[in-house]
Amino acid sequence: MRFPVHMLTDNVQHQVKNAIRGNKRYPFVLMLEPLYTCNLACIGCAIERHTGKLKDRLPLEKCLEAVDISQAPTVSICGGEPTIYPELPQLVDEIIKRRRQIILCTNGLLLDENLYGKIAPHKRLTINVHLDGMKETHDYVCAREGVFDKAIAMIREGVKLGHHIMANTTIFKETSMDEVEELCRVLTDLGVEGMLVSPGYQYESVDSDIFLSRSEMQQKFRRVLDISKKYKLTSTPMFLEFAAGLREYNCSPWSTVTYTPNGWKGPCYLIGKTWSPTFEEFWNGTDWAYWESRQDPLCRNCAMHSGFEASVVRELPKHPGDMVRMIAWNLAA
Ligand code: SF4
Repeated sequence: MRFPVHMLTDNVQHQVKNAIRGNKRYPFVLMLEPLYTCNLACIGCAIERHTGKLKDRLPLEKCLEAVDISQAPTVSICGGEPTIYPELPQLVDEIIKRRRQIILCTNGLLLDENLYGKIAPHKRLTINVHLDGMKETHDYVCAREGVFDKAIAMIREGVKLGHHIMANTTIFKETSMDEVEELCRVLTDLGVEGMLVSPGYQYESVDSDIFLSRSEMQQKFRRVLDISKKYKLTSTPMFLEFAAGLREYNCSPWSTVTYTPNGWKGPCYLIGKTWSPTFEEFWNGTDWAYWESRQDPLCRNCAMHSGFEASVVRELPKHPGDMVRMIAWNLAA
């Protein structure tokens, strides 16, 4: 199976519960950014995501409050670099006690110092290591030599220790798709449980010409569709077809809510138009219909999984053929 049974049942239960309550919009994933401190300054990263001071991190209790109020079955701990967060072991422990799935997104550099040996492997904890290409490309994107080798060593060690390890790759304008395929092969040989490939998006605060136009993205994702037939990608086939320009969806920005040291970020993981101190203010103050419609110029080149994977799920009941494909995709090894 592509995802463990408990993850599937938790998500199905969450959707059934919300359907019974008549909720049209509800969070699927909480993007929890406990700190904006990082040990890297990658070229595609928003400036606010790696320049924060450790003392300005979210207190543990505020993180847990966000987990409780969002009710999302999956918590993606990102940042900043979450392995720098001093309260990480307690945070992971408390989220697992709440029976949520954790995806810990990391550059991998501090896994040996701050995670392995301090946090035990658990079926509800997946470590997601970021790799944007093979050695030369990844070290260039991370603006530091040696990052690729260390990340690979940490993946190898994590697998050996029994951790659930995934990898995620962002596709930029210059990304060679042959290299992405080679990376998938290397990661599969290392024993990762899945790979997420997503298109780079130009954050408002990133001044760089590395991001894809819509046509470039569609061309590269047609190749990703081919790669997905050989390797275990975690993006759904319908999402990949959307990114490849073969189908259309409205956005579901409410499906992935983001809590940060600056508050709840709205309207979506990518765009920070508002930073609200409370979930209610964020949820009730965002014009969801407007952002779903993708009419804003900032949405023009966006095909981020955080906005569109939930749209795939939302549309499934209208398309029985897609439902069958989705079940077969989940069952595939
Ligand atoms: S289309 Fe992209 S940028 Fe626009 S609201 Fe959705 S996720 Fe955000």
